[in-house]
Amino acid sequence: MQKTISIKLLPSEAADDQIIKEYISGETGKPLSQVNGFYITKQSLDARSRKVWCNLTVHAFINEPFQERIVKKIQLRNVASSPDKVIVIGAGPCGLFAALKLIEQGIQPIVLERGKDVRARRRDLAAMNKEGIVNPESNYCFGEGGAGTYSDGKLYTRSSKRGDIDRILNILVQYGADEKILYQAHPHIGTNKLPLIITAIREAIKDAGGIFLFEQKVSDFIVSNNIITGVKTAAGDVFEGKAVILATGHSARDIFQLLDRKKILIEQKPFALGVRIEHPQELIDSIQYHCALRGDFLPPASYSLVQQVDGRGVFSFCMCPGGIIAPAATDHNEIVVNGWSPSKRNNPFANSGMVVSVEIADIAASKEFAKQHDINSPLAAMYFQQMVEQKAYKAGGGALVAPAQRMADFSKNKLSATLPDCSYLPGLGSASLKEVLPPFVYKGLSEGFIAFGKKMPGYFTNDAVVVATESRTSSPVRIPRNKTDLQHPQIKNLYPAGEGAGYAGGIVSAAMDGERVAEAILMAIKN
Ligand code: FAD
Repeated sequence: MQKTISIKLLPSEAADDQIIKEYISGETGKPLSQVNGFYITKQSLDARSRKVWCNLTVHAFINEPFQERIVKKIQLRNVASSPDKVIVIGAGPCGLFAALKLIEQGIQPIVLERGKDVRARRRDLAAMNKEGIVNPESNYCFGEGGAGTYSDGKLYTRSSKRGDIDRILNILVQYGADEKILYQAHPHIGTNKLPLIITAIREAIKDAGGIFLFEQKVSDFIVSNNIITGVKTAAGDVFEGKAVILATGHSARDIFQLLDRKKILIEQKPFALGVRIEHPQELIDSIQYHCALRGDFLPPASYSLVQQVDGRGVFSFCMCPGGIIAPAATDHNEIVVNGWSPSKRNNPFANSGMVVSVEIADIAASKEFAKQHDINSPLAAMYFQQMVEQKAYKAGGGALVAPAQRMADFSKNKLSATLPDCSYLPGLGSASLKEVLPPFVYKGLSEGFIAFGKKMPGYFTNDAVVVATESRTSSPVRIPRNKTDLQHPQIKNLYPAGEGAGYAGGIVSAAMDGERVAEAILMAIKN
């Protein structure tokens, strides 16, 4: 007999297979000796009451042999001599999953990535962290695996397409991710594990006959009669294909500028802007788990906060328990922060983006911005984002030192005399963030923080540090595409995709979008 059973256990019990078997025996009324095994299909924590519970759903094998969970693997075809070639610009989650899907369908992908492979990229990240030097082609956003490689690797998405999400998670397991991501409510891979998975995907693409090239920055599109037939790279190479997937992410400003220069339709897009905040992890644990110490069986606690201030959303974004604040700038003279954590989430800090929504009207209303830029340009939101990042750089004093303030000081607009220890390796400089952030962002955050302190008593504290600026939350530009065939409305065979084009926000949704455009390309080729 096989049976699916839901169980509520203490976290210490949920870590013990023998106890779970005893529960299965009790639930089914069968002797323990007949419970031959089980695997977990769902796992979540419920910390709403004083006692924290672990909710499990298990698939049990009673009085019949245990069978391992089936990981649904994809089958790649050999596409080395396929007559159908498609150019994929960018090897982030969107580009990689598009390439895999193309191969499954018998189409040869030509993946062009401006950055380096995961291993070589690591050296450039070290230079950012230790020396404050940015390589504009190789950083936390650019390089193999895109912004997803040295990210936190949280795999949750707001999408409700369960089947599509499960498919992405199964593929990640096929290429090396832990099976836990298939059943956890909040799956997470971790920065230490992601590069191996990305490497395995690249090798699978190459083994199947796909072409995968690094340090090939696309610098021009070959378009005639409104049909794209290929691309040119900064190295002077030309690549041709039946279609071009543009999966360059939200930080490829030169791609947005290229589209604008070539008069290919793009639009301003609202985004969100703010800071990253860091607390001691122990403090967040004690608030969320209602106890002085977390103990051995609970994971470092996370949180999710949202508040309306003056009718504007203020919300936490990309919270990283046991994490590190990373310098995520892609150019000189700008400060961008983001967060990551290792798979064990065992750093002593909890960081999270804290952002305020930025509408197109806010940009148009900014006198400071209007003095320097055309508010009607489709790139206005992008330049607004850049303006704040550059102000943060100046306020920090250079070399990627980030301007920062203690949390309560921030809300009181008081310069912090000292700053607490922080995980951000290039270092912090005390500054007034009111001078860095747009006034509506500062107001939203300073009032939002006080409100968050009421929702989570202990959260609003001068033991936390506020670091500017969290600005690459989503793309400030939308590249339009048709709803039906997913092609750009003006340029046939051009497929804008992923986060940079405005169709995804996060690893899983970018991967799903990559698959979607690959399917649309097959339809177009068949017809
Ligand atoms: P990207 O990942 O941005 O990939 C775009 C690729 O295109 C890059 O590799 C870039 O080098 C390449 N490219 C750009 N221009 C060119 C060009 N001209 N020619 C050739 N190649 C080019 N998301 C989550 O879901 N969970 C998380 O925990 C999480 N944590 C994050 C932590 C950090 C530090 C960062 C930076 C991001 C994090 N994100 C997280 C966001 C996530 O990484 C992105 O949403 C996702 O990677 C977007 O995928 P994409 O493929 O659309 O674009």
